[in-house]
Amino acid sequence: QSTLKASGKDPYPDWQAGDPVPYAALCTTFSKIEMTTKRLEILAHCSLFLRQVLRLTPQDLLPTILLMINKLAADYAGIELGIGESLIMKAIGESTGRSLDVIKKDQNEIGDLGLVAAKSRGKQPTMFKPKPLTVKSVHTGLLEIATIEGQGSQGRKIAGIKKMLSCADANALTGKAGTGVDITENKGGPSEAKFIVRTLEGKLRLGLADKTVLVALAQAVTFHEVNSRTGKIPSTDQLAKGESMLKSVYSELPSYEVIIPAILTHGMANLHDNCKLQPGVPLKPMLAKPTKSITEVLDRFDGKDFTCEYKYDGERAQIHFVAHDSPIQYATTVPQAGKSDRGIANVFSRNSEDLSKKYPDILEKLPSWIKPTTKSFVMDCEAVAWDVVEKKVLPFQQLMTRKRKDVKVEDIKVKVCVYAFDLLFLNGEALVNMPFRERRDKLHACFTEIEGEFAFAKYGDTNQLEEIQILLEESVKASCEGLMVKMLDGTESNYEPSRRSQNWLKVKKDYLAGVGDSLDLVVLGAYFGRGKRTSWYGAFLLACYNPSKQTYETICNIGTGFSEEILEQFHDKLSGIVIDKPKPFYNHSAGNKDQPDVWFEPRYVWEVKTADLTLSPRYKAGAGQVDGGGKGISLRFPRFIKERDDKKTEEATSDKQVAEMYMRQESVGKNKGPAVDDDF
Ligand code: ATP
Repeated sequence: QSTLKASGKDPYPDWQAGDPVPYAALCTTFSKIEMTTKRLEILAHCSLFLRQVLRLTPQDLLPTILLMINKLAADYAGIELGIGESLIMKAIGESTGRSLDVIKKDQNEIGDLGLVAAKSRGKQPTMFKPKPLTVKSVHTGLLEIATIEGQGSQGRKIAGIKKMLSCADANALTGKAGTGVDITENKGGPSEAKFIVRTLEGKLRLGLADKTVLVALAQAVTFHEVNSRTGKIPSTDQLAKGESMLKSVYSELPSYEVIIPAILTHGMANLHDNCKLQPGVPLKPMLAKPTKSITEVLDRFDGKDFTCEYKYDGERAQIHFVAHDSPIQYATTVPQAGKSDRGIANVFSRNSEDLSKKYPDILEKLPSWIKPTTKSFVMDCEAVAWDVVEKKVLPFQQLMTRKRKDVKVEDIKVKVCVYAFDLLFLNGEALVNMPFRERRDKLHACFTEIEGEFAFAKYGDTNQLEEIQILLEESVKASCEGLMVKMLDGTESNYEPSRRSQNWLKVKKDYLAGVGDSLDLVVLGAYFGRGKRTSWYGAFLLACYNPSKQTYETICNIGTGFSEEILEQFHDKLSGIVIDKPKPFYNHSAGNKDQPDVWFEPRYVWEVKTADLTLSPRYKAGAGQVDGGGKGISLRFPRFIKERDDKKTEEATSDKQVAEMYMRQESVGKNKGPAVDDDF
């Protein structure tokens, strides 16, 4: 429960009932959040603000929540923020009458474009008072900017940003209402220019986790409902009930676009009846924990029945379908890419992005696998590259050569076979709270295998070590990565959306004797090559992600595992995202010799293997979590495996996962020796 005070004063007193939510009010709350690192305080500020929205302007609740989680729409809508630094610098310069050189100089000194914008805005003489921004107008403006495409799009984007910046801080600049704080500094002043720019960059950097916003919303709604009904404040019990209701609904239907209107119309108590898993709205997938040995699996699942499935090496795909003659509604919020004679379908990625334009072949063939009695479903699967001549699975790298967008079925060179391993919704009913054995039975009953197009994941239900060993070897022979071991019965075997669960374990062939798993890391910087590699970058600085602080923590330098062709490609890709200085949310060593030659925007995620993990004063991953002296964790002999363009940088391996891996290493306690950056 938060430190939420019943008597908490409205954070923004000037705003009247029925007024659109002033953007300055949201920024006041952001500024308060920015001044603390305490989770409960952050939660309290957030929930107090949402209470005010609910009381005065409930119709703006959706854009308010979206701006709080730094999104413009649900992930499946494919609308991305993350506008490049150079474009934003131009817009700041042009809207404030300062030259690009001055803006660049400021950025070099301050390192936070948001603050540069605030400073530029603060120095600008104002001739007239612009119309104050509202949460709604900012949301709409940002949406317009993010969706501009085609010829001249850069210029139009700059014009859009300029328009918004010229209205920012209207009250603060004319010395009226709400602030009284110097907006040019990062001292808790609600600078609209600062937060607009950070939002455009795709990084609010407030330490405001999505989960906190969800809990704050639950608290605010419960407070509002109880208070307007009884005049009292909600009990701890009522708050807890509201929170658990919203969390459970959100895990099945992670879409504020659907949930918020339902809350406003039907209230929290009835949310479950009005918001259920719905085809068309992708669930966050269940994830697995790594293990290092089959005996570890046996220890964890001691005495329980489990199954060992092949772990296919492709791309996770969640397929949604509703037949035309089904009474079930397909969510109207998604682009309905896969219309066919039989029904509507979409393929979603691990990140809930719509992959329908990448896999039109899956959508085309889908109707032939569906039995006539199967009218609606959500299926969890892996799309795997398929060798049509040899009739076998191909490596992941082949799949990655497919185009991501606007693929035409007739042009497809790399065919895919879909391997289904779970069924989450069937004929109008959510199955997530059903034991896995039953879900699997239904999956097998509702679809038909077709060679090279659709198959069920191979499995063996055994708890015999030797048999598991054989399954593992067979899976590897069949070009799989190893096994996924899953609980079969009881509530423990329910599908847990978005959770990395103990009830799913991955056993990869090549980590049986190693660290436990490969890591997915973000590229932050690079070093110019030497010798043969002089025209490209020869080595890179990588980092893991800390989701609670929203920072990137450095973990190693890497120079091994790259072919020359790949280095050339990476040089082309990365040159476009070079920045002058490390971002303030990069947690890296300040030592002179630890600075890379160039820094990058955080954009790319790479999968990396390591011999083991070790403590190092030079890197910051998980610093303070396993070592009282504040040393970070680093990789020894890291080796590049592949690009993970299906992962966003926020989905890179987290600091906590790195710390867990370090702790689980058999040899913790025995000194492994210093971090070794291969090729250095
Ligand atoms: P994670 O998804 O755990 O963060 P990751 O994306 O790096 O890590 P892996 O460690 O390779 O993925 O393992 C999990 C992935 O394996 C799943 O997300 C899914 O795409 C894939 N997979 C392949 N076969 C199966 C299966 N039988 N059951 C579940 N997942 C499977």
